[in-house]
Amino acid sequence: MSFLKLQHLSDEALRAGIVRTSLKMNALGINQGKSGNVSARVENGFLVTPTGIPYENTRPGQIVAMRMDGAHDGDILPSSEWRFHRDIYAARLDVNAIVHTHALYATTLACMDRDIPPFHYMVAAAGGKDIRCAPYATFGTQELSDFAVAALDDRRACLLSHHGMIACGTDLDQALALAVEVESLARMYWQALQIGEPQPLPDEEMRAVIHKFKTYGQQPLQPPSA
Ligand SMILES: [Zn+2]
Repeated sequence: MSFLKLQHLSDEALRAGIVRTSLKMNALGINQGKSGNVSARVENGFLVTPTGIPYENTRPGQIVAMRMDGAHDGDILPSSEWRFHRDIYAARLDVNAIVHTHALYATTLACMDRDIPPFHYMVAAAGGKDIRCAPYATFGTQELSDFAVAALDDRRACLLSHHGMIACGTDLDQALALAVEVESLARMYWQALQIGEPQPLPDEEMRAVIHKFKTYGQQPLQPPSA
């Protein structure tokens, strides 16, 4: 879905989409409890999940509207991690939706400060030859946000050291699908590490895969069967 199409969704539809995505995130087993958060870009800022309300109790009206200066509407406080959502939207005009989770396998690797190397060609679904792990900083801080934006350079996903992962998309479905993919890759890589360090695919091969994904209409998560 293009940015224009996203803009045509009503505020109400986007709020409902954010609630649905948060619930799916937990139902799919890539997040637990109240951790994680979801947002979508709107014309003058973004909509983000509130802090402290369990997803199953969150109503679309409780999704917080924020502006790019960090101000928000209403009495309900936004997720304490709103800064990296704001900074990713500011830095990346290709991103219209963000899913942040504490998925178990992705977070396990992040706790070991490990990037996900090109051990499998689908790593390219995140936009590059690897999925970087951003250095640790306290949740909600500008420092963490700066590290996340840097780790996402030329990528659509990253790990956050001792914390979790971020996946971005042109819409909510794409961001969620990428989060699921990153978690599957993290699990496969973790399993491979039980046997030994897998051989990385050569840079040249990863470049070819990235190019192939691009030529199939910007749909890296639905490559032709391979
Ligand atoms: Zn978090």
